[in-house]
Amino acid sequence: SPLADFIVVANRLPVDLEEAEDGTQRWRHSPGGLVSALEPFLRARRGAWVGWPGVADVDVEPFEAADKYLHPVSLSSAEFRDYYEGFSNATLWPLYHDVVAPPVFDRSWWESYVRVNHRFAESCAEVAAEGATVWIQDYQLQLVPAMLRDLRPDLRIGFFLHIPFPPVELFMQLPWRTEIVRGLLGADLVGFHRPGGAQNFLWLARRLAGFEPSRGSVGVRNRPGVVQVGDRPVRVGAFPISIDATGFDALARSRETQARAKEIRAELGNPRRIMLGVDRLDYTKGIDVRLHAFGELLKEGRLDAEDTVMIQLATPSRERVEHYKKMREEIEREVGRINGQFSRVGRPAVHYMHSSVERTELAAFYCAADVMVVTPVRDGMNLVCKEYAACRHDLGGALVLSEFAGAAAELTSAFLVNPHDLDGVKNSLVAALNVDPTEGRRRMRALRRQVLTHDVDRWARSFLEALGTQLTP
Ligand code: UDP
Repeated sequence: SPLADFIVVANRLPVDLEEAEDGTQRWRHSPGGLVSALEPFLRARRGAWVGWPGVADVDVEPFEAADKYLHPVSLSSAEFRDYYEGFSNATLWPLYHDVVAPPVFDRSWWESYVRVNHRFAESCAEVAAEGATVWIQDYQLQLVPAMLRDLRPDLRIGFFLHIPFPPVELFMQLPWRTEIVRGLLGADLVGFHRPGGAQNFLWLARRLAGFEPSRGSVGVRNRPGVVQVGDRPVRVGAFPISIDATGFDALARSRETQARAKEIRAELGNPRRIMLGVDRLDYTKGIDVRLHAFGELLKEGRLDAEDTVMIQLATPSRERVEHYKKMREEIEREVGRINGQFSRVGRPAVHYMHSSVERTELAAFYCAADVMVVTPVRDGMNLVCKEYAACRHDLGGALVLSEFAGAAAELTSAFLVNPHDLDGVKNSLVAALNVDPTEGRRRMRALRRQVLTHDVDRWARSFLEALGTQLTP
């Protein structure tokens, strides 16, 4: 395959291995939000994507899909365990999410992380044309910027972190904190969701690597701060990610989605009110918080299971990681407890599904829900709440949103809650369920205005502009 001018590097390639009925396997293109946002840039600039195809212990040749070259980086099952499940998801993930679960510091996991990051950097160095732009994604690949710069000083390198960047006191626990900071400083631009993350990183760059931020360097949105690394300026800023808002809006307006939303309500027995949660089954999402709140409200008689139901869609996630197994058991026990106490035949109080649904079905759920409940104890952004707003062209529905989701900085017209304050969450659920229609529409109009004017395309453009790369010709 030819050399590429614009390269996205991410842990996963945007493909899934699909098995046909006759047992043959083939790769299927699987576009998520990030993929569709970057697609126009990849198409315009001889693009390539470097990533792991999602199956361990296989060697896959580079191939072309949807106008871009896909360069697989292979992982052994030991590396999947140590680099991915271990260091990425049992060390960095909990550490960066306010140590909601205790991070595990394991030296062999770290060694695997270094090795795999190096493989990604080498792969990328091989496919990049002279002077190409490389955009590295997320916490699994924080060493790649510096490793790649060593191999290829001619490249323009951007890095974006999709999860929160932690407070400095927490980051300082990491035995390999200096290596990570130096790894990130290999980029020309380091992007975070929130200005606070950018500020924390600037502080650490000085404290751990000895690089002084320029004076007045604040790292606010679209005005990145700067750290001088030798003769090379590294810019550091906040770029809140978003969704394909017009896509969701159109999907929600379609006759099929509206019909399906009605059908969902009918299948539930046309309850007066539906609350909805949609999350990966992750301990950061606060699924337990909303279940406790709902359970107490039923017990106190402030809500009645005869007319108010909760749907919890929980997407399977990281099922081999210990903490995830434990949390799943706790949540399912709580669902069972609530249903045992408050359901009757044909009328469960909580509809819990451990599965994942397609975008079209999800849009129908959003349209059917009177209150969307998003209560993470920490979340880098949270896209589900933005998707909900984008789907409510009818200005119906209300959003209960945790202050600890990155999205709360933008969605200030939601019913904002502190997920640690159970009484506060309960009161907000009741307030959202009973909101006066005029007030509800006012809030939803404001949420939609924000989401529709700040979509994922704008996010990608503002990052690439700050990186100083040439956009679509
Ligand atoms: N999602 C989906 N099917 C499901 C549940 C979720 O496609 O059954 C999508 C959802 O539309 C959203 C993403 O998964 O775009 C979740 O993103 P979010 O930022 O809310 O959470 P994350 O899982 O990235 O922590």
